[in-house]
Amino acid sequence: MITTKRIHQLPVHLANQIAAGEVIERPASVLKELLENSLDANSTQIEINIERGGIGLIRVQDNGAGICKDDLKLAVSPHATSKIETSADLEGIVSYGFRGEALASISAVSRLYLSSAIAEEDIGWSIKVEGRDTTPALMPVPKCCGTLVEIKDLFYNTPARRKFLRAEKTEMNYIEEVFKRIALSQPQVAFKFAREGRLQKRLPICRNLEAHARRIAMVCGQSFIQDAYYIEAETNGLRLTGWLGSPKAMRSQADLQYFYVNGRIIRDKVVMHAVRQAYQEMNIEGRYPAYILYFELDPAAVDVNVHPTKHEVRFREARTVHAFLSYAIQEGLIKGKEALSNFSKAPQNLQKKFEFKDPKQAFSFLYQSEEPNVQSNKLFSAEIVEKKASEKFLSILDGNFLFVENEEGMTVIDVPMARQVLISQSLVYSYEKEGIKKRVLIMPKMIMIPKDHMQKLFDLNWERLGFEITEAGENAVLVRSVPEVISGKIEDINALLSKLLVLDNPHNIFQLIVDSITANQSLDESQQRQLLKDVFEFKKINGNNESSKFCKQFTAQRLRTLLF
Ligand code: ADP
Ligand code: MG
Repeated sequence: MITTKRIHQLPVHLANQIAAGEVIERPASVLKELLENSLDANSTQIEINIERGGIGLIRVQDNGAGICKDDLKLAVSPHATSKIETSADLEGIVSYGFRGEALASISAVSRLYLSSAIAEEDIGWSIKVEGRDTTPALMPVPKCCGTLVEIKDLFYNTPARRKFLRAEKTEMNYIEEVFKRIALSQPQVAFKFAREGRLQKRLPICRNLEAHARRIAMVCGQSFIQDAYYIEAETNGLRLTGWLGSPKAMRSQADLQYFYVNGRIIRDKVVMHAVRQAYQEMNIEGRYPAYILYFELDPAAVDVNVHPTKHEVRFREARTVHAFLSYAIQEGLIKGKEALSNFSKAPQNLQKKFEFKDPKQAFSFLYQSEEPNVQSNKLFSAEIVEKKASEKFLSILDGNFLFVENEEGMTVIDVPMARQVLISQSLVYSYEKEGIKKRVLIMPKMIMIPKDHMQKLFDLNWERLGFEITEAGENAVLVRSVPEVISGKIEDINALLSKLLVLDNPHNIFQLIVDSITANQSLDESQQRQLLKDVFEFKKINGNNESSKFCKQFTAQRLRTLLF
């Protein structure tokens, strides 16, 4: 016969021990929870002491906001937290903690001592929680600011758990890794780390980027930071900063990969894939890149309540995040490489050899390729017939009017108008024939698109318009190519693309392209001559009527009547 067992509520202590199984795997997990509590309390100084790999003692003293007398017992009770109040708060978590379980869980599997003082009270208070004792007594302590937590004899009352612990040395390695992760995530907080009472590391507050880099050197070693590239990228509320290991710093293990989302270290498939892809695209060989990256975004755009240890997150716009990260890291690698090859990596004597006075002269090939070349578009230049010497270029007035002498008298050309007409004619012509010629961007650009426009976006044949565009999430696209005619001529290409991609008819697109390349751009003499050739060619093909919008012929007779 099968006997039915009756259901009963678990005693609090046992429930806490079970809950501890989820978050408290080993001493390092305790340290992580205590440090996160200190950071949530806005501490600026945290001191840690570890004995016997954390099995003997984990002690964390901070100078944070503290806990008031009446809340001390609550702090060690399950599901008690000061960090969230309603379920709506779960939508945008800004603190490390929010589950209200860590201290309760830890106290169920160790001997816990907690003492704290808040600024408004004259003395501090402490409690000790041991074993089954769930009604600890409050004891007064002399006031010192902040909170002290001591955890002794971890797992003393759960032998099964204790058996799974490794050697003290190994547990110490886990502890050091937790400390590293937190120290790297919080440069604005000073840390002291001691082992068996002896100070091992002292990390002062970092007030600037150099100090931050110094901290990284102290925590991860000089060799990483020496060759690392600093990156900084921001688009539409997504921001990535940090250091990327150079190709030289590729490692045989994934042991120098720190990725923080709003200050919280995570290991996430989307992120890891984006990083790997960026390194691969740059043809960087080797197994594991090294990096320390800080990614910030609206807390509401990321769900941290996915796993009890909070090492996993869920991005609401995973594809957008992926595209942004991959793009930002690639750009960082490209810039880093350039900077290194330009400066530090060039031997001294080489640098000297290439010293130059006029940068423009030294890099003339670069300037040439960037120089506007709008007039040499296929339609006109292909069939250009050199005019005889009878056409004499006289001068340009204000950058706006070209005066040209010829057999019949003088031609005046309205330069901006001529360029507008010539470029747009050429665009329309290519669009209708084989499609507008495109140029691949060195770095793809990520452009945000209003959600309601996203469905309509691909109604247009962007390929034919000279753009190569792929979707990158619900409201973003990656632009890989742009029409050759704008490549290298637009200062803020992202701004132009944001405007272009929401247009829904080719003619408006042509108009905006033309306006952007002709705006505020003066032509040098060779460009003026090229324009001249194009204008006469246009006149030949389209007749006087069409060209009269921007080009007027004056005979000597007509000039006389106009002037006198
Ligand atoms: P959680 O961090 O998820 O809120 P914990 O069990 O870790 O849960 O802590 C419970 C509460 O105790 C916290 O919400 C906080 O109010 C308080 N607390 C714990 N540690 C500290 C500390 N170092 N300084 C100030 N308050 C603390
Ligand atoms: Mg906590």
